[in-house]
Amino acid sequence: MNAKPLEEMSILLVDDSRFSRDVICSVLEKHNFKNLHLACSSAEAMDLLGLSSAKKDELKVDLILMDVVMKDMDGIEATRGIKKNFRLRDVPIVMVSGVTEKEKLKEAFAAGASDYIEKPVNEVELVARVRSILSLSREISERKDRELKLLKLTKELEEANKKLEILSSLDGLTGVANRRVFDQTLLKEWKRMERESKPISLILIDVDYFKNFNDTYGHSSGDECLKKVARAISFSVSRPGDLVARYGGEEFVIVLPDTDGPGAQKVAVEVMDKIGKMGIRHERSEVGNRLTVSQGVATMLPGSSGGKSSDLLELADKALYRAKHEGRARVVALKS
Ligand code: GH3
Ligand code: MG
Ligand code: MG
Repeated sequence: MNAKPLEEMSILLVDDSRFSRDVICSVLEKHNFKNLHLACSSAEAMDLLGLSSAKKDELKVDLILMDVVMKDMDGIEATRGIKKNFRLRDVPIVMVSGVTEKEKLKEAFAAGASDYIEKPVNEVELVARVRSILSLSREISERKDRELKLLKLTKELEEANKKLEILSSLDGLTGVANRRVFDQTLLKEWKRMERESKPISLILIDVDYFKNFNDTYGHSSGDECLKKVARAISFSVSRPGDLVARYGGEEFVIVLPDTDGPGAQKVAVEVMDKIGKMGIRHERSEVGNRLTVSQGVATMLPGSSGGKSSDLLELADKALYRAKHEGRARVVALKS
């Protein structure tokens, strides 16, 4: 980033003495400072800075040179007012003080002034002070800009990460949870049910004769069909802890924590009903002319048998296998 030249930075000079304003202005102009603004009273300064109701346009300043004693509001009170404003609190204020006003400086620093210059001003001293304080002010505002940018970037990154996390947990075709989430959830819920001495059920759902469906209607119709099946399954569960996931290909799985055998079978029947009601044509199904699914339901009590979560999956698989062999389009439930 290219730093702004100090000579282009904005300086507000507040002084009720015309002579004093002229002297300071001519010194600064001689040293090429181009962005000078004048106020002949504290009230005018407040107007320019947008701190009074009189003016809407607010002047952006990088430095304020403030006379200590002025006829209306003195420079110290004005400094206090400026420093109270959130937008202006970091703008450096340099007091311009006569020798007799020195005792007031303590008060000025307490009000928030950064430095002071003695009147009558000495050219070298004035320019050196103004340059050093402006360069400090520039550094501070650049750092603020960098921090703001960094904050914005961090926020953007956090949002992108959130989106990525959501995307990486969903199945791309059907929008239900993917296999990875299923694996994690099964393990987590198994352990939770073990601690709570409660049953857990699993339903494995496999579309019947789906290869034939693809062969008859085409792969993209097959994809559309899987989306509908996923939606029907999702609408069949209701508890917040239940999870529907795509297990792979044309197979789906439901994790049902704190659910016993009869409860899980109810869900399976609901799935069967919902898919039946959709009435998706399947001419080459060998169990009718509508799309059906076979379901294997397994229920276990994690704490009691000393088993593992993979045992529940195996049991559900065994039940599904039976459902297929007993003629498909049915639910088979097993318990251990
Ligand atoms: P079964 O009744 O014994 O389950 O028979 P099936 O034909 O459904 O089972 P099989 O395992 O022989 O075939 C599964 C088919 O599912 C194979 C593949 O064409 C289809 N399939 C798997 N994933 C997708 C997918 O993402 N999109 C589509 N369109 N088809 C898929
Ligand atoms: Mg299959
Ligand atoms: Mg199948």
